[in-house]
Amino acid sequence: MTAPAPFPKDGPEVLVIGAGPAGLTAATYLGRFLRRVLVADAGQPRACWIPVSHNMPGFPAGITGAAILSRMREQAEEYGAVVEPGAVEALTAVEGGFLARLNGRVIPVRAVLLATGVVDHHPNLPGVEDAVRRSLVRICPICDGYEATGKAVAVIGDSDMGVREAAFIRTYTDRVTLIHIDAAEALTERAALDRLGIALVETPIEAVHLEDDRVTAFSFGGKRTAFDLVYSALGTSANASLAEGVEALTGDDGRLVVDSHQLTTVPGLYAAGDVVRGLNQIAVATAEAAVAATAIHNALREADGLTV
Ligand SMILES: Cc1cc2nc3c(=O)[nH]c(=O)nc-3n(C[C@H](O)[C@H](O)[C@H](O)COP(=O)(O)OP(=O)(O)OC[C@H]3O[C@@H](n4cnc5c(N)ncnc54)[C@H](O)[C@@H]3O)c2cc1C
Repeated sequence: MTAPAPFPKDGPEVLVIGAGPAGLTAATYLGRFLRRVLVADAGQPRACWIPVSHNMPGFPAGITGAAILSRMREQAEEYGAVVEPGAVEALTAVEGGFLARLNGRVIPVRAVLLATGVVDHHPNLPGVEDAVRRSLVRICPICDGYEATGKAVAVIGDSDMGVREAAFIRTYTDRVTLIHIDAAEALTERAALDRLGIALVETPIEAVHLEDDRVTAFSFGGKRTAFDLVYSALGTSANASLAEGVEALTGDDGRLVVDSHQLTTVPGLYAAGDVVRGLNQIAVATAEAAVAATAIHNALREADGLTV
């Protein structure tokens, strides 16, 4: 990409990549700092999968992921943020900012916030997406373990992460089964399962059945066992490829390394939300976005000689 610098006075100053809770929160803050903000979004933010969240601060009766997103988007647009559908395909660092390729255009911006989230590794089961929407297959016990209290819960895992997730769920119920779907060697924490009274199934899953909107049943090894709900502990992959293109540092888990102001190792490139931190929570994503947006505004003020 060649540089159409300097940065146009009427173009966006800040590009936010991703219109999930992190990106939309940052857009609201930046709009209220009177910054011109473009939010690019490839669609399907993780938050849109939330059937009902009961741990979203300020919503004691719960709120759906769709409603969270539409309120956050309304608020960002209220302060002038422009949300454009489309995936940012490439990012190049230039003096004083970046060039981003979006929908066939090359857009110069002074700062970029990556709020690109992660992709869930769903179990390979027919109807799994429908089951997630109906809360029968769940992803995140920190989000909704409370709603599993006293229930018969299966955890699908392919590593010791499954053991850790099953152990976490023991806070809520003593009826926990780990269904391990990878090679036996991938499971080393067997003693912990015994100690915590967690049952272990190592035969392949053949089918999943959703019954009466309530009960999930698996057939494995010819045997049929019913659970009230299932957690998938198969992990996620961070959407960090754009950052890698500008050589921002990522950790062993693929997430972006940031400082206390959410700045990556590349000047002007910030990151917030699931793409940064393993504690994948909306409250965390929005807090990080507030920190990042304020740091971006202050950095631009400083670049413009508007600080003391
Ligand atoms: C089933 C389920 C239930 C959950 N329940 C809860 C809950 O009850 N409470 C809670 O706090 N959290 C919950 N979570 C977690 C919560 O959804 C995430 O922590 C939150 O959505 C993270 O926000 P984010 O903005 O970082 O990422 P996301 O919401 O995933 O948004 C990232 C956005 O970036 C976009 N993007 C990626 N790459 C590009 C690109 N190159 N160009 C343009 N756009 C791009 C994606 O398309 C996406 O729209 C749940 C998650 C799931 C899956």
